[in-house]
Amino acid sequence: MRSDLLHFIDGEWVKSTGADSIEVLNPATEEVIGTISNGTKEDVDLAVKAARKAFPTFSQTTKEERIALLTRIADEYEKRKDDFVEMITQELGAPIIMSEKVHYNMGLAHFRQVAKELETFEFTEKRGPTLIRKEAIGVSGLITPWNFPTNQTSTKLASAFAAGSTVVLKPSELTPYAALILTEVFEAAGVPKGVFNLVNGSGETVGDAISSHPDIDFVSFTGSGAVGQKISENAAKTIKRVALELGGKSPLIVLDDYDMKKAAKIAAGNVFANSGQVCTAATRTLVSKAKHDEFIEALKGVLPRFSVGNPRDEKTFYGPLVAEKQYDRVQDYIQKGLDEGAELIAGGTGKPEGLETGYYVKPTVFTNVKNDMTIAQEEIFGPVMSIITYDTLEEAIEIANDTIYGLAGYVVGEDEETVQKVASSIRAGRISINNPPSDFSAPFGGYKQSGVGREWGEYGIEEYLEIKAVVGVS
Ligand code: NAD
Repeated sequence: MRSDLLHFIDGEWVKSTGADSIEVLNPATEEVIGTISNGTKEDVDLAVKAARKAFPTFSQTTKEERIALLTRIADEYEKRKDDFVEMITQELGAPIIMSEKVHYNMGLAHFRQVAKELETFEFTEKRGPTLIRKEAIGVSGLITPWNFPTNQTSTKLASAFAAGSTVVLKPSELTPYAALILTEVFEAAGVPKGVFNLVNGSGETVGDAISSHPDIDFVSFTGSGAVGQKISENAAKTIKRVALELGGKSPLIVLDDYDMKKAAKIAAGNVFANSGQVCTAATRTLVSKAKHDEFIEALKGVLPRFSVGNPRDEKTFYGPLVAEKQYDRVQDYIQKGLDEGAELIAGGTGKPEGLETGYYVKPTVFTNVKNDMTIAQEEIFGPVMSIITYDTLEEAIEIANDTIYGLAGYVVGEDEETVQKVASSIRAGRISINNPPSDFSAPFGGYKQSGVGREWGEYGIEEYLEIKAVVGVS
């Protein structure tokens, strides 16, 4: 059993000022795998002080120095591959292949991508008599969720370091280990004292202390809408800037001219990846009435490939959900789908056969879903697909946009003009055409209640900058 009761403040591993701890579970076995400290407001104060002290020097480092730092971080990160993969599988329940190919790789990609962006990033710009200077925003408080333990911390940290901002990070208490390994990576890479500070603990204590702290200039949060609201309210009291990456209920529009077998594979791969715990998941699949039966047949054919199982079994596509609370939430949604009259064509409530221990949920597909049903409107955050039919393209677009969210949208189709029409009509921050590979330079963030601001690449760096106008420059 692990015991990780120290925070990382001002370049040192330090004891918490309190004595409270939190147990961390392996969701595949339901066993406690370790404990972390449940930090205090005083711990946050110490971390903020350290970050503030480090800020004047770090914010004045050159672009070249920060590129070198990000490159050293990426190099050290690569040396810890096995540790990241193992711990993400233990704390999140992600299959080994997923921990490596998705989680480990995404974390690394952000450091490499941001280092590359920085090479051409301009921190000053002359406009007539005015010099525009982009300066580091100050001390940034970072609060991250559990579903992508390396992706969300790395995108925020890489951007903050690139901008010259110092940070206090609170990772999710459900998956704290990837951030602990990352802290060791920063030590090995020589991140200067006080530039990076880690305080572990719950959202109610440590998260709340970060969002309300008067000496934190900016909060970047990824997580649920409800917590995003609380953070914004807290931050408003000291007028700090807030970036929010929240939930989604993203549509995948299947156009009639696309191969239905390919469409079914893309739809299932998207919804079941990471056990459906993906904010950009295409949980609403929109298929024309004419193609509905063909799509369902194709989907039934590909479903066995997307099997749920033990994360250590090579054949497993997705593992358990992260926690019992999340399991119960998803079960309630599946029951609501049945109660509100959606037609179940795969999966359903209860645990999959042979997987009674662990928070496993069956790959579940509903069809004949109406867009006003709860399962089409609320974020389930589990392996549940809702198929909705449409008559015309205009109707498909209307359904796609009939949501409080706007994080992502997907379209599969052959006719370029129609595909582009869909892409420009969906009100969301990221549209993917025909299942493209990831682009880490593309901005990531949401319209509507999916959030405020953009992460990744050049746009991510901008989040950690203030803009100064120096007027009267010759
Ligand atoms: P959550 O909002 O419960 O927790 C996220 C983080 O906030 C955790 O570190 C938690 O400890 C902290 N927190 C909780 N209460 C807090 C408070 N009062 N003040 C400050 N911090 C607090 O979310 P979760 O359950 O960990 O993650 C799932 C949610 O995150 C889903 O809704 C999902 O859509 C969203 N998400 C969004 C994105 C995105 O980029 N848009 C990415 C991943 C997850």
